Amino acid sequence: EADVLVSDADKAMRHALRVQNFEATLITIDGRLINCICNVRLVRDQDSREVTIEGVARDITKLKQANRELIHAKNLAENSLKVKEQFLANMSHEIRTPMNGVIGMVDLLSQTQLNPEQKNFIQTIKKSSETLLTILNDILDLSKIEAGKMELQLVVTEIETVFEKVYNLFSQQAAQKSISLSFKIDSDVPAYLKIDETRVIQIISNLTSNALKFTEKNGKVVLHASKEIKNDLYRIAVEDTGIGISENDQQKLFRLFTQVDNSSTKSFSGTGLGLAISKQLSNLMGGQIGVSSEPDSGSVFWFTLSGKGVNQDEIDVLIQRKNTKKESPLINFKNDVPPHILIVDDNTINRQVASQILMKSGFKTDLAISGQSAIEKIKLFDYDLVLMDIQMPTMDGVTATLEIKKLNKKIPPIIAMTAYSMKEDRDKFISMGLDDYLAKPIVSDILLAKIAEHLSEYGINPKKKSTDQGSQIAMKNGGNHLELIDGNTLLQLSKYADKPTIKSFFEEFEIEAKSLILESINAEKTSDITKILSNLHTLKGNAGTLGIRLLEEQAKKIEWDLKNNQTQHLTSDLNELLDNFNKFTSKYQSILN
Ligand code: ADP
Repeated sequence: EADVLVSDADKAMRHALRVQNFEATLITIDGRLINCICNVRLVRDQDSREVTIEGVARDITKLKQANRELIHAKNLAENSLKVKEQFLANMSHEIRTPMNGVIGMVDLLSQTQLNPEQKNFIQTIKKSSETLLTILNDILDLSKIEAGKMELQLVVTEIETVFEKVYNLFSQQAAQKSISLSFKIDSDVPAYLKIDETRVIQIISNLTSNALKFTEKNGKVVLHASKEIKNDLYRIAVEDTGIGISENDQQKLFRLFTQVDNSSTKSFSGTGLGLAISKQLSNLMGGQIGVSSEPDSGSVFWFTLSGKGVNQDEIDVLIQRKNTKKESPLINFKNDVPPHILIVDDNTINRQVASQILMKSGFKTDLAISGQSAIEKIKLFDYDLVLMDIQMPTMDGVTATLEIKKLNKKIPPIIAMTAYSMKEDRDKFISMGLDDYLAKPIVSDILLAKIAEHLSEYGINPKKKSTDQGSQIAMKNGGNHLELIDGNTLLQLSKYADKPTIKSFFEEFEIEAKSLILESINAEKTSDITKILSNLHTLKGNAGTLGIRLLEEQAKKIEWDLKNNQTQHLTSDLNELLDNFNKFTSKYQSILN
């Protein structure tokens, strides 16, 4: 029976004369394989000759089996956790898109003629939808962190600016409750630290919002930055004079979905996500989070973060950038009056990109998501210029323009923006009532030059070549034939938007494009060609604006085929489009980083 064992353990035994806890597979007399754990020794006779071996083999087959099942169960659990995370991320993405629609429309509705009762209703819808969006964003953040997808963007940041930003966010809310809100920074905290500003502000905001929520009228909330004794760790604390938390309840904090008061009659709103997210974020930053509190006398919520050292060169660059920003805005307007521009586009990404370019250049912008809402807005407000998308559902840009021109007021120049790019188009649109024409995708320099033409009285003089702040992103991407994202487009964008903003454009694209493509695949099953055409048109526009050439070209090709009634490759074309989209999704973050 022990033959196998002998050959296996042979070597070890010759050295040590015995083996202990040796795992081996043995064959029983009836031919079964069993897992055993063995303790065996070599027996010698008086003349030191090896005579035999003796020992004990314990059958651990069942134990092994149980072990395998445990590993299997663990894998299963880990997998379903991943599924849960994916589900959460997808759901909050999916809900966010219609939510933005709701918020946008409520905003428009609130600018129409309403009686006091209706105004009140709108206020409630507005508040509720904003709260809902905050919760969704929290869930999205959480699933990002849990999936390990949250990456920190460490940038040299002035701590005072961080506190000022939080202060500005909450000063009004504090004033409404007559709570004094202030901040202090200890002298041994360096003025500049390398941190992820957005995420640090997110944690401080969570803590400050809680402090204000759980502090009575006439209370006090102080934000306090100090240095930890341990090297390079800094502590930010939010101190309040609020209701406090008992020792017992403190144990429950920082866990997901946990609130101290869980009764159905609880008097404070919230999801119990804030502290859990803050904990994950501070851990991500190499720090910790904690609380010290006494019921009725207040709480101190604090977190630590490691602030990477900053050298003088980096600070100089930051200060220089700040100063140049102050001294030379991209455009100087005569009499310092920024023109007010209305951007009409049903497409989120185009609206965002256009408005970012214009805002950064110093214009005031307003957005309309349909021809109809553009008409309403122009009735209500005086704009200096209108950028009008042509292809929009329900009412196209040409019809909207004709309606606007009928209004009994001074109408600003209306510039068509379209993806049709034939030479004759300009004349065609002008003959249809528009004042000028711009080809999409939007190219910032061309857009600004066109606006300058029409607003000459403001003395707009866009610099042809502005600073190349953007080269950092574009360079990394450049020089590659099959580049996923066009380097030039990125360069252009980065003149007007910082990295997080550009990232947010692409994230928005990811959300929109995904549903556009999936919807098209579904529509194909019911041969709803109109739907596919409209979706691909939007996709083409979005991809074009962000320089995602492969997707743009592919959408264009399918659109072209469909317009020529060629549907034989549609299924495979759409699948290929989805494949390429997935490729893009998996890669774009690292390209932008
Ligand atoms: P939310 O505020 O959305 O409920 P949080 O995770 O931010 O979720 O907070 C969880 C709970 O911790 C709160 O519901 C509250 O019971 C308690 N809490 C947080 N901050 C304070 C504070 N400053 N004072 C008293 N209780 C607090």
